Amino acid sequence: MASTSMRTPSNPITKGVFCYNTRKHLLARLISNSSFFGRKLVDNSLSYSTSTSGKKTLRNRSELVRVSGLNATSESHSFDVVIVGAGVIGLTIARQFLIGSNLSVAVVDAAVPCSGATGAGQGYIWMIHKTPGSDKWELAMRSRKLWEMFAESIQHQGMNPVEILGWKKTGSLLVGRTADDTVKLSRTVEKLSEAGLGAKFLSSNDLLVEEPALMVGKEGGAAFLPDDFQLNARLMVACIEKANRQFTSEGRYAEFYYEPAISLLRSGSTGEVEGVQTLNYILNAKKAVVIAAGCWSGSLMQDLMRDSNTDLAVPVKPRKGHLLVIENFKCFKLNHGLMEVGYIDHEAATLQPSASDSGPIYHAQTPSISMAATMDTSGNLVLGSSRQLAGFGTEVEESILNSIWERAGEFFPALKEISLRDYSKSREVRVGLRPYMPDGKPVIGPVPGLSNLFLATGHEGEGLTLALGTAEMVADMVLGNPLKVDHVPFAVQGRCC
Ligand SMILES: Cc1cc2nc3c(=O)[nH]c(=O)nc-3n(C[C@H](O)[C@H](O)[C@H](O)COP(=O)(O)OP(=O)(O)OC[C@H]3O[C@@H](n4cnc5c(N)ncnc54)[C@H](O)[C@@H]3O)c2cc1C
Repeated sequence: MASTSMRTPSNPITKGVFCYNTRKHLLARLISNSSFFGRKLVDNSLSYSTSTSGKKTLRNRSELVRVSGLNATSESHSFDVVIVGAGVIGLTIARQFLIGSNLSVAVVDAAVPCSGATGAGQGYIWMIHKTPGSDKWELAMRSRKLWEMFAESIQHQGMNPVEILGWKKTGSLLVGRTADDTVKLSRTVEKLSEAGLGAKFLSSNDLLVEEPALMVGKEGGAAFLPDDFQLNARLMVACIEKANRQFTSEGRYAEFYYEPAISLLRSGSTGEVEGVQTLNYILNAKKAVVIAAGCWSGSLMQDLMRDSNTDLAVPVKPRKGHLLVIENFKCFKLNHGLMEVGYIDHEAATLQPSASDSGPIYHAQTPSISMAATMDTSGNLVLGSSRQLAGFGTEVEESILNSIWERAGEFFPALKEISLRDYSKSREVRVGLRPYMPDGKPVIGPVPGLSNLFLATGHEGEGLTLALGTAEMVADMVLGNPLKVDHVPFAVQGRCC
């Protein structure tokens, strides 16, 4: 699984009546035994002939497919849009089509929604660490507005966004401890204010009032954005799935979980993408196929396009991150969400070219740890986070958890008095693989030369924040609507070849 947790998150969806997940346990075992989540999404023993003519034959009649000794009938279903990947990006794209058009949508996932990076997300939807005028700024602002509208719509339906989404409008603090940090933070405040956000600079004394447990020293300070907010990624996903499923009875929505996508269906005459073959199903897509498979999107695209003449290399990489959750934390309270200013550099760090010039130093990159601290609506202290380019493994590394704890102790001295071992029974560890693009921007848009195929991936540490803006952009592209945000910085062309 991509996101591992010491406790398995309860996922109501796997039990859903709308979910086409027959033989899920067997498939899950097949998936976990193969290198599915590694470089090759489909192990040779799981794959089968996907020649153009073969696909055509499969599409036109139900046929018995042999998969590693497993006989499965490939049922065929038709939708307007097929989305591969049920992380926050895939699910919000589905939602956007459902509420913003009359198209029908299928969501396909190799596992279940929170098994990817989404399940490890800390939940901040913040502008405090973003740069006004940067390529991602407009998308982030649009997305933030859409999240606020989303929370309001929940309220209008008579529900409480705090309960449903883990919504907390606590504001965010970007904190520093040195004179240099303070200069940086003052500039941040200036830029955010010029961009129309109500940012404030807080001296170390002001900070003490806002966050009594935080210690930044005399030279430290913080940039404060009172309007920033956070949510609980898992609650939010459950809420979106529930809303999407309301369209099932109209025949407009279906989920295919534990169903890895295996190949693309393409027209023999025009080459147009016409659907997706999963392990057990043929899913025809009349209008579009959207690949939103997070950090697996690059290797998946290679597999999907094995027999195609199109060259497309999506350079998205898994950037592993640990998150430490201390349940029912009583030692101190946090009034806001906090992040150290060094987080920005860690997030933006790119791959270093290797000395031999044979490619990036990928496995060798040392983990970086930066403090991000939030308190969720259940009173859990959520501490992040680490970044590592270390392949597709998701094993928990105790040394990294200790570093996260120690780093947090630099800012919250009370933590230095407590050993992390004391929380061994009341801690949860989440590990996720952020979809990292070397140029730091997501890839959103049509794939040149493959009409009807769209990509939406590479959101790294900002996928929760950018999800609703991304979803709107993809849906508008497919529907031919005017776009609300400039899409050019995110185009596939020139970045995936
Ligand atoms: C520790 C940590 C903390 C974070 N905190 C935040 C935060 O506070 N705020 C924020 O904005 N972002 C945060 N992020 C980043 C955010 O979680 C990600 O950017 C986001 O979840 C990416 O979503 P996704 O849908 O692209 O990918 P994923 O959630 O990884 O989903 C991809 C899905 O594709 C599926 N898939 C893969 N291969 C196939 C296949 N062949 N067929 C079908 N399905 C397939 C997978 O099973 C998976 O479910 C954090 C990330 C981490 C790791």
